[in-house]
Amino acid sequence: MRLTEEQIYRYSRHILLPEVGGVGQEKLLKSRVFCLGIGGLGSPVALYLVAAGVGTIGIADSDTVDISNLHRQVLHYTDDIGKPKTESAGEKLEKLNPDVNIILHNGLISKDNIRGIIRDYDIVVDGSDNFPTRYLVNDACYFEKKTLVSGAIFQFEGQVAVFKPHTGGACYRCLYPELPPEGIIPSCQEAGILGAAAGAIGTMQALETLKQILEIGEPLTDRLLVFNALNMSFNSVSIKKDPGCRLCGGSPSIHGVDEISQPDCDFESSPIS
Ligand SMILES: [Zn+2]
Repeated sequence: MRLTEEQIYRYSRHILLPEVGGVGQEKLLKSRVFCLGIGGLGSPVALYLVAAGVGTIGIADSDTVDISNLHRQVLHYTDDIGKPKTESAGEKLEKLNPDVNIILHNGLISKDNIRGIIRDYDIVVDGSDNFPTRYLVNDACYFEKKTLVSGAIFQFEGQVAVFKPHTGGACYRCLYPELPPEGIIPSCQEAGILGAAAGAIGTMQALETLKQILEIGEPLTDRLLVFNALNMSFNSVSIKKDPGCRLCGGSPSIHGVDEISQPDCDFESSPIS
């Protein structure tokens, strides 16, 4: 792949960075990233990845735009209320960067289709808002050997982590082995969320995705970054691979995504434990 003159100018501030350069920009243009959920987390993720020239971006969300989404889901505008979120997001992302091939996945992501969908991508970014979906994505990424960039947000707090169990690291189930009982953790709808806090976490997911593609810096692989917007604190703790993990441990009891309960939620911002 050779960059055109226009591309050299468009990405000049990337190319100036010794860690990126023309070679790194070409890597970005050849990469394929799947964004699950195009809400509070997925909006900044997709915006930054498309702006950065990640060549193919798949976006999935089965929800339509609601007025209560707009304080944090920055890809959707007042005129978009009632539109499918994928369509609303796709319109803006295409205008932002014609270099990027945007693929819309409109239907519900389920145990029946998730592996087939993510198979075509290099990296999966989880912007979902509920635990069953996070387990579903985690398990599908494990079986398809895809890097998972995970994010979660609740009120003023958020978390980011990168999981690569196919290279010997931990998976999401090593960190959270059990689904919390229903009703223990309030939803975003019940608990509220400061919109910009979702933007901060989504932006960090985009950063980690770019670092994975460029193979630069110290990634958040096997580390959990915990962010608190109220006191502006960042703490990171290491995540240990659990030898007894039901999915990626020595004697696993989960052998396919079929064994996970079906999610039935929209994708926006999400409760954390
Ligand atoms: Zn595991």
